[in-house]
Amino acid sequence: MSIKKEALRTNQTCPEYTLRLVVDKECPFDCIYCFQEGTNYSKSSSHENPDFLSLVDKFAAVRPISKIRLTGGEPLIYAPLLPLLKGLKRKFPSLDLGITTNGSTPRILQNVIEEFTDTPLHMNISIPSLNEEMFKKLTNTARLPEVLSSVNQLRESSFSSHANINFIFLEGVNDLELPEMSAFARVNNLPLKVMQLTVNEFNSDALRRLNTGSANQRLITERIQDLGYLPSQHPDSFIKDGHIIRVIGQVAPQTDQYFRDYKTFRLYYDGRIGICGDNDGIIRPINMDNPRQTFLEVVTEAEKFL
Ligand code: SF4
Repeated sequence: MSIKKEALRTNQTCPEYTLRLVVDKECPFDCIYCFQEGTNYSKSSSHENPDFLSLVDKFAAVRPISKIRLTGGEPLIYAPLLPLLKGLKRKFPSLDLGITTNGSTPRILQNVIEEFTDTPLHMNISIPSLNEEMFKKLTNTARLPEVLSSVNQLRESSFSSHANINFIFLEGVNDLELPEMSAFARVNNLPLKVMQLTVNEFNSDALRRLNTGSANQRLITERIQDLGYLPSQHPDSFIKDGHIIRVIGQVAPQTDQYFRDYKTFRLYYDGRIGICGDNDGIIRPINMDNPRQTFLEVVTEAEKFL
């Protein structure tokens, strides 16, 4: 039996799933490395937003969920964001609910912080570079000042103990910024997640032109340890004077991370459901257009890729 099938079998009594809600495709950035959460969207195509609350409700009725992350595009510019977050908090008060943002809209972030001051959300803020030129080269925008403002807001709010900085590690491009990025995260009292890049059909050409790709996880951990961080008791985590750096791998067979990754469903802005399968990290959309198919059948069909 393969490792992943064995993992599923042993977890079959009560597997808990993470849902990634890909709430929209819109984004003010145009990152060179964007892998579009595996969905082939055209920036100009129109779509109707599904009722995410009801989709999550349906999912929760057939499978246990422990965590929800809103992503995109840029989730903070999703117009019905606040009603969706409030609805999720109301229906699933004990769920670990969070957002991955590029930090480009500090004003909207402030609204979210004020709305959820007493029940803070988990926030991942992605920063590919602290250097203006490099930031521009990677994101095709000049909005680093807005991103830095968002970091300030998080640091000063009740969200600070629930936030991380995400740093996409691009070997030969921004990798030499790791010391600066770790110092920045540390000064802001925020853990740093160093992300191994997901390469797929959407970003592979651009990455080839930059002469980079998905860096070896061992290289990333060596660079972190060169900064004086030591392995902590948590897998893929390193610590120095109380500051944590975690390495988030694309696919890390035979580790807990691997199994966590493969219990993640994506619910898309166009109503599709997706799941990663096999070792390739490709997200396979499942057709939900058949009116005779129940939601349980759809989820069960998606699980065949596990
Ligand atoms: S911020 Fe995220 S969604 Fe937007 S272009 Fe960059 S990688 Fe893609």
